Amino acid sequence: AIGKTRTTEKADRATVEQAIDPRTRMVLFKMLNRGVFHDMNGCISTGKEANVYHATKSDGQELAIKVYKTSVLVFKLKAAGSPTPLLLRLHVLVMEFIGKAGWAAPRLKDAALSLDKLREGYLEMILVMRTLYQKCKLVHGDLSEYNILYFEGHLYIIDVSQSVDLDHPHALDFLREDCVHISDFFRKHGVAVMTIRELFDFIVDPSITDESVESYLEEVQQKILARGDVISQEDEIADSVFVQSFIPKTLDSVKNVEEDIDRITSGKDTGNMYYQTITGLKEALSMTQPSPVEKQHLQEQNL
Ligand code: ADP
Ligand code: MG
Repeated sequence: AIGKTRTTEKADRATVEQAIDPRTRMVLFKMLNRGVFHDMNGCISTGKEANVYHATKSDGQELAIKVYKTSVLVFKLKAAGSPTPLLLRLHVLVMEFIGKAGWAAPRLKDAALSLDKLREGYLEMILVMRTLYQKCKLVHGDLSEYNILYFEGHLYIIDVSQSVDLDHPHALDFLREDCVHISDFFRKHGVAVMTIRELFDFIVDPSITDESVESYLEEVQQKILARGDVISQEDEIADSVFVQSFIPKTLDSVKNVEEDIDRITSGKDTGNMYYQTITGLKEALSMTQPSPVEKQHLQEQNL
């Protein structure tokens, strides 16, 4: 048995053991011997790619142990708003348990939150998405109400270990998908949300700082309020175009850089230039572009 001392719950343990192959059992035994945990109590979840078990340390601290069916995991940095990973050996991930007394916190999908809590949750979630992107340089890639737990007033993203680095060729497509899922969920439950495009831009915009993030959100909030409860047909169409568009990630993959720069600097419509925020091009141009006075000065000097 994995548990050191328990003699009760034999049936439970038998089920636990059944699901664990010899290699995994060896990893778990080593962890047990090193005191990573003291007792492995039962299975919280069986999934296609992994099973999750509840464990406790000798001091009573609760842990979640996720055993992947396929190995080769790369350890991703501790991401904000997700359970702290404690140890990774082969395909076994030990992490902080989100829940209490053996009861895992409910998924956002099942949490039945009040509208007020949902509004808070939406803000918390989009900030976590932004932090994940800007600070951890990761895109979750499978973010939805199924991979978010609600515990003691906060949202925790789980399944972070399958997230992708920003240099993954499809990172931005995954991010856009995540935005769609998060928006859909909160919108469906009555929260006035940003458009997909606004959310995406908020997450990737490098010019928003820790200091300005609050006022940025304040502004967005005003915009949402002014728009009313329903997203207009125009915004809806713009969003569905955005969702289907190719997003260039770097200037290397932009076809007509010069033409685009011209569009930005001459104040033409740039609504469908999805990369301008990502690459910080817009901001960079506004800083390097001569002011009207400087322009005149340059013209006078025939430069
Ligand atoms: P899967 O790869 O099967 O989707 P998840 O990481 O989404 O696995 O976890 C599946 C379930 O296991 C979650 O819905 C939750 O009930 C539970 N779980 C996962 N991680 C934790 C954790 N750190 N604390 C508590 N419960 C967890
Ligand atoms: Mg999951």
